[in-house]
Amino acid sequence: MALIQCHECGKEISDSAATCPGCGAPVRAKQHKKGDTVPHTDQEVAVLLSKKKKTSHILHLFLSIITAGIWIIIWILVAISNSSENAKIDRQIKDGKKV
Ligand SMILES: [Zn+2]
Repeated sequence: MALIQCHECGKEISDSAATCPGCGAPVRAKQHKKGDTVPHTDQEVAVLLSKKKKTSHILHLFLSIITAGIWIIIWILVAISNSSENAKIDRQIKDGKKV
C-alpha cells in the first residue's frame, strides 16, 4: 500500500482507496487509461494457453515414412517391370528374326 497524491485536492491518500476520502475524487492509480496494459487474470491466461497450437511431430514423421515407403515401392516395381521388359528384348535379339 503506497501513498499517492490526490489529483484533485493534493491530499496524500492510499492508492488502494477507490476515491479520495478528502474530496471524493476517484483515485487515478485505480483507473486504467485507454491503451494501458494490465496483467491477465489466471483464468484469461489459462484460456490463452489453451489456444496454443501443438505440432504433431509423431503424426508428421509417420506420414513421411509412409509416403517415402510408397515411392520406394513404386521405384522397385518400375525397376522390376523394366528389367523383365529388357530381358524380353534381349531374348528377341539373341533368338534372331524368323525367316
Ligand atoms: Zn482529494
